Amino acid sequence: MKRRKVVFLGAPGSGKGTQAKKLSVKFGLPHISTGDILRNAVKTGTELGLKAKAIMDRGDLVPDDIMLGIVRERLAESDCADGFLLDGFPRTIAQAEGFDRFDSVNCAIQIDVPDSALLKRLVLRRTCSSCGAMYHLEYQPPKVEGICDKCGSALVQREDDREDVVKSRLRVYVEKTEPLVGYYREKGVLHNVDGDRNIEVVFSEIVRIVEAAGDVNDER
Ligand code: AMP
Repeated sequence: MKRRKVVFLGAPGSGKGTQAKKLSVKFGLPHISTGDILRNAVKTGTELGLKAKAIMDRGDLVPDDIMLGIVRERLAESDCADGFLLDGFPRTIAQAEGFDRFDSVNCAIQIDVPDSALLKRLVLRRTCSSCGAMYHLEYQPPKVEGICDKCGSALVQREDDREDVVKSRLRVYVEKTEPLVGYYREKGVLHNVDGDRNIEVVFSEIVRIVEAAGDVNDER
């Protein structure tokens, strides 16, 4: 079976989520954001959510075995038959190695953005409390302050987009997640993209990369 399996790397605020969402529409593949899965669990108050909330609020990582279980289950769903776009997973070498024991990727996209820009993107980011749409107070403000253009609900700052937590998320990224760049480079599937540009420009480069990487033959 031909499948297209893409992983997005890049620091918090690099635009992984934005690009993965757009790519999901373009290629008809599911966008799997482990951050969204966890936030949803927190919102609905499941056992996982209760466990994850404090960890997420301080910008730490949820344990690898929990994340591997979540992703394995999600990838077994029928909408992943033609492939998937992973956003926010893997985040550690242990997650990448664990993942490789039950699946693989044929394209890893590293989105590079300088630290100073990341901080500004995250701290000024606001999210709709209902539909999840994202805004930026400077670059993409809502039409009415504090209100979502799309659904009219209140905009909030994610708990982990506060400056002190952002700084610790960026530290965790450098320490735990950045080594994955070397991991995927060695596998010959890594592509670097300059993410400090207009969303559409970055997107067209990513589309070209994903198209050139093509599909892989694999049995589920
Ligand atoms: P994100 O929306 O991808 O920035 O994720 C928000 C938070 O969820 C992170 O700061 C972590 O606490 C947690 N999280 C998301 N994905 C993972 C993962 N693969 N491994 C560990 N923790 C994760």
